[in-house]
Amino acid sequence: MIILDKVSKTFGKFEVLKNCSTQVERGEVVVVCGPSGSGKSTLIKTINGLEPIDSGRIEVAGTDVWAAETDLTKLRAKTGMVFQNFELFPHLSIIDNLTLAQRKVLGRSKAEAKAKAEALLERVGLADQAPKYPIHLSGGQQQRVAIARALVMDPIAMLFDEPTSALDPEMINEVLDVMVELAEEGMTMVCVTHEMGFARKVANKVVFMDKGEIIEDCSGEDFFTTERSPRAAQFLAKIL
Ligand code: ADP
Ligand code: MG
Repeated sequence: MIILDKVSKTFGKFEVLKNCSTQVERGEVVVVCGPSGSGKSTLIKTINGLEPIDSGRIEVAGTDVWAAETDLTKLRAKTGMVFQNFELFPHLSIIDNLTLAQRKVLGRSKAEAKAKAEALLERVGLADQAPKYPIHLSGGQQQRVAIARALVMDPIAMLFDEPTSALDPEMINEVLDVMVELAEEGMTMVCVTHEMGFARKVANKVVFMDKGEIIEDCSGEDFFTTERSPRAAQFLAKIL
């Protein structure tokens, strides 16, 4: 479903991604972890066309993401992205947050978009919040809205960039529960997260990054049970 082949990128002289290769199969959940500044956010953004790459190749469902002819707006709709800070449109109600892109990008009718939005809000347990504005919701609720907003586009994969790290501890689980449910339903997911409980539960694969490199790329089971590279072991010791 997603292929990264020798992806490199620099910011000026700084090599943020060094020859990164990995693959995500359909229905797989891949957890990406690693120290702050290791390039995780940059990597995930290159997959849905938010950060251009300097060399290598990225494919999403057969589309070459960085080919000149690729329609990045359509691609972004297909790969729903959820950010650390929710990134809801503050000036739009929850329901309007969920219908805007459906109408503009997918050309759905108002009624169709609204029905889809209501169904997804129901699914994340927020049916009663539709007329409110983001500021009136808790962080956990806002993040569930952000997930629903990505899902209304019928994505073929979901990309999460530390979706729980801006949340108060008591709200983390309400977001992780939605993510676990999605994983169990067979959604293809790439999740940058340090929630190792989540990783143990649903990760088919764990990618460990350090200083722009993919140091480990192994099954979820292996990551937690077999001997780790020194850098990954050091990282795990700090967060577990
Ligand atoms: P992570 O998500 O693992 O913390 P990032 O991908 O956000 O790492 O960043 C990796 C490195 O690239 C960091 O050192 C960061 O300062 C740098 N970086 C990120 N975005 C930019 C940018 N737009 N311009 C310059 N440097 C950047
Ligand atoms: Mg990051």
